[in-house]
Amino acid sequence: MSSRRPAPLPPSWLPLPDAPAFPADGYAPLADAIGRLMGTTNDVLLVQGEAMVALEAAASSLGRPGVRALNVVTSLYGRWFGGWLRRAGAEVTDLAGAAPGHPATAGAVARALEAGHYDLVALVHAESATGILNPLAEIVSLAKAHGALVVVDAVASLGGHPVEVDALGIDIAVMGPQKALGGQAGTSAIAISPVAWDRISAPGEAPSILSLADLRTLWLEPGRGALPGTPSALEFHGLAQTLARVEAEGMAAIRARHARAAAAARTGARALTGAEWVAPGQASNLVTAAALPEGLSAAELLTHVTGDALTAGVGPAGERLVRLNHTGPRARLETVLGDLATLGAALAAAGHPVSTGAALSAAEAAWREAETA
Ligand SMILES: *Cc1c(COP(=O)(O)O)cnc(C)c1O
Repeated sequence: MSSRRPAPLPPSWLPLPDAPAFPADGYAPLADAIGRLMGTTNDVLLVQGEAMVALEAAASSLGRPGVRALNVVTSLYGRWFGGWLRRAGAEVTDLAGAAPGHPATAGAVARALEAGHYDLVALVHAESATGILNPLAEIVSLAKAHGALVVVDAVASLGGHPVEVDALGIDIAVMGPQKALGGQAGTSAIAISPVAWDRISAPGEAPSILSLADLRTLWLEPGRGALPGTPSALEFHGLAQTLARVEAEGMAAIRARHARAAAAARTGARALTGAEWVAPGQASNLVTAAALPEGLSAAELLTHVTGDALTAGVGPAGERLVRLNHTGPRARLETVLGDLATLGAALAAAGHPVSTGAALSAAEAAWREAETA
């Protein structure tokens, strides 16, 4: 009997690469949902790319010769933003934090705005690189008082802290779903005030992925149907699911979860190292920086850690701190306690014996207190 082969199967359908088309009328509801999360009725543009693309688009669309920018630099993100503004022709003055790895102060921003004329002020709200929080409300109101446009990188902060675009009067706010909202990194969004539109460069000769004016003429003005180009259906289905999950949990609950995780992480880290990197009001709810004991570098401490629970800081202060990441799905008590136990064991292995049990109890108590606060 001859062996008969079964007929070849059709190639199997794979849920990720074979995702169904994203409906043309599905984009506007995503933009509206993002506007609600950011507290704004301004135009919200969807960007087909991670938040770095949205930030570069904002800088490229605002910078041009004659534009003077005060750029707050408290991490690489701010440094890059200034670089894009300069490349576009703007004159950029960088303003560093009070110390390496620390937030900028409202006082320093006020002095800079008194000393020179600026058309725009740019800053990162919460820094994942060092776990610090810049004084957003103060800086926005100073900038407004001087007639400057305000551009805020809220990629890390949205979901961890209130980002009230309209209440504060933020002209341009950039978000991404991949941090506190727990989504994927392939899309991002930009909220743009009417005043900001007046300062955005006109479309160029050829369409550009970095031109906000192109997104206005190609997507907003025709009535927010299909996005120009060929958007990845997969990314937008992912964004839709993330936003649905966020709306189901509620932004207040998401922020509260991050605040509790941060309270627990800060309390536990302080119990372990005896120090705080920054005061609680200057710390973000996304990432906690644990200040290391004198003479112990992050690189040395991390030789005693396997896995990626703890990481060195990024930037000039990076070696003096390790970061506990409690962003998005990591904003849970179990994750924080696990990371604190890892930190305690690593400190002990590096010759700095600590009382990890007491630190974990203190962290758990801080979580419970924050819950009822
Ligand atoms: C994560 C992050 C971004 C965007 O980075 P991606 O590489 O797009 O994830 C921008 N700004 C800040 C402050 C961030 O934390």
